[in-house]
Amino acid sequence: MSSTTILLDRNRQFASDFAAADLPVLPRLRTVVLTCADQRVDPAHILGLELGEVAVMRNNGGRVTEAVVEEVATLAFMVAKMDGPEPRPWELVLMQHTKCGAERFADPDFQRVLKEHIGVDVSSSAIADHEQSLREDVERLRGAPGVPGYIVVSGLLYDVQNGRVREVFAPTPLGSFAS
Ligand SMILES: [Zn+2]
Repeated sequence: MSSTTILLDRNRQFASDFAAADLPVLPRLRTVVLTCADQRVDPAHILGLELGEVAVMRNNGGRVTEAVVEEVATLAFMVAKMDGPEPRPWELVLMQHTKCGAERFADPDFQRVLKEHIGVDVSSSAIADHEQSLREDVERLRGAPGVPGYIVVSGLLYDVQNGRVREVFAPTPLGSFAS
């Protein structure tokens, strides 16, 4: 049986008692989680999310790439429009995890092989040290013109072997991070 068939079966079950038709466009907790696409790192499970509470962005490693900066800037613009004259802060949670495949991207030989074979540069997604790459991600956001300083950013590290999340840095307005 194809996995799509399995997933559609599960959706029929989900839709059979659907009760979330009137959820607002903005997430109820005014929060976006950026994390890895890894199947072991599903924020809905790890962070106990209800439908409609948090927006989730995922990529290889959960890193702030140029594409993520553009998405965050676009979101910030849209949220500010919806908030009206007084834009209110919202939170961006950067959550990396142990045993991440993006740790392999830190190997210069692996980077070179990927570049040669598929023409993809993964250097901006590489993770050699989680705390350092979380701080680099904050710097990438701070340096982006479309990302407002009032966004509150935190850095978390999820341990895939014990299920615990550790706070690497506490929620802080982007504009208040020490450079
Ligand atoms: Zn990962």
